[in-house]
Amino acid sequence: MTKLPPCPTCKKPSVFDFRPFCSKRCADIDLARWFKGDYRIEGDAEPENKEELFEDE
Ligand SMILES: [Zn+2]
Repeated sequence: MTKLPPCPTCKKPSVFDFRPFCSKRCADIDLARWFKGDYRIEGDAEPENKEELFEDE
C-alpha cells in the first residue's frame, strides 16, 4: 500500500480512486477554484500598487 498525501481541499486522508483528493466532491471543489481563478488573484497583485505600499515616508 502506498501512503497518499492528504486531500488538498479538506486535509483528510485521500482516497486512491480520487487522489490526490479524498472524494469526487473535493476534486470538483478544487477544479472550481481553478476555473474561478482564485489561485491567480492571490499571487497576481499589481506591482505598481505594491511599490506604493512600501513608501512609508
Ligand atoms: Zn477532501
